[in-house]
Amino acid sequence: MNCEICGEPIRGRPITAIVDRAKLMVCEKCGKHASGRWEVEKVTPLQSSTALSLPPPNVKLAFEQPKRKERVGEEFEVIEDFGPLIRRTREKLSLSYEELGRRINEKVSVIQRLESQKLIPDIKLAKKLEYSLKIKLLREAAIPAVSNEEPNASETTLGDIVTIKHRK
Ligand SMILES: [Zn+2]
Repeated sequence: MNCEICGEPIRGRPITAIVDRAKLMVCEKCGKHASGRWEVEKVTPLQSSTALSLPPPNVKLAFEQPKRKERVGEEFEVIEDFGPLIRRTREKLSLSYEELGRRINEKVSVIQRLESQKLIPDIKLAKKLEYSLKIKLLREAAIPAVSNEEPNASETTLGDIVTIKHRK
């Protein structure tokens, strides 16, 4: 497995990091820049309501949360002229397609399609490019105004996900 930021093979355990709200599996080095960790989804059997025994001490209670939909990334969108920006920056850094491709662990054809805007990067790919080229490719998507009568008030927000951290 390779780090999703720097593309280096991950030695040891990969770190599950939240980087600007995107969930990434990264190496230890890149994990230091992360704003938090996300929990790798665990399969927790549903507890029967008739269960009599208390959970043994030292066992963390399962999160009492409904199964959430993956929402990370939805609030971001890629800027319109990402292609020319990638090309300009790559040329400024004197990187060939191959070199940039190696940095972000993508094929040359992917870089070429990105630069000609034939391929719109997903959030993860955009993040890798942002880190490698030190550019901004993502911006927060315009979120439509929410009325007071939000029909789905229980919907999990990104804020909730970000606050979940590993406890040591
Ligand atoms: Zn890394």
